[in-house]
Amino acid sequence: MSESLCYNFRIRYYNYKPVPVTLPRYPLRINVGFLVHQPIGTSHDFTFEFPAVQLSPDFELTQFNGTARISRTPQGLLVEADFSGNLLLECVRCLDEYHQSISANFAELFSFRYRRDAESELFIPEDGHIDLALLARDYLLLEQPIKPICRPECKGLCFYCGVNLNETVCEHQAQPVEE
Ligand SMILES: [Zn+2]
Ligand SMILES: [Zn+2]
Repeated sequence: MSESLCYNFRIRYYNYKPVPVTLPRYPLRINVGFLVHQPIGTSHDFTFEFPAVQLSPDFELTQFNGTARISRTPQGLLVEADFSGNLLLECVRCLDEYHQSISANFAELFSFRYRRDAESELFIPEDGHIDLALLARDYLLLEQPIKPICRPECKGLCFYCGVNLNETVCEHQAQPVEE
C-alpha cells in the first residue's frame, strides 16, 4: 500500500505541468491613486499570490507571490517590491524541463507627472493605477540562471548515445571507469 502511494507520487511529480488556470489579465496592476493625497511618509502594502501569471507574452511563472510597499514621498510614490515564482526552464545538462524558483526585489520611484525635474522615467498615470508586471519581469529576468541545471547532481546525457543518465544507465556508463 505505501509502495503504491509512493509510486503515484513519483509519477505525478515527474509529469507535473502548470495547471491550465485562467491567467489574471493584469495581475500586478494596483490602484495607488489614494496614496497621492496622503501625507508624505504614508505607505500601504499590497500582496500578490497567483497559481500562475504571465508578466509578458514570453514570461510566465507559476506559484507566484510577492509584496509591494508603496510609500508617498515628496517626489511621488516609492515602490519597494519583492517577487518570487517558478519558471519553466530547460536543463543544459539533461535537456529536461524543470521548475526553477527565482526571486527578485527592487525599489523604483513613480514620479508625479507635473515634475519636470523627475529623475525617474516612471510616472503615476492620471487614473492612479500602476502596473508592476514589466518591472517585475525585468528584475526577475536578471535572476534567471545563465546555465540552468535541474538539480546539482544532474547526470546529464550520455556523451555516446544521448540517453538521459538521470533515468537510465546505458552500456557506456555501466563500464567501470578508473579515475
Ligand atoms: Zn538536468
Ligand atoms: Zn550511452
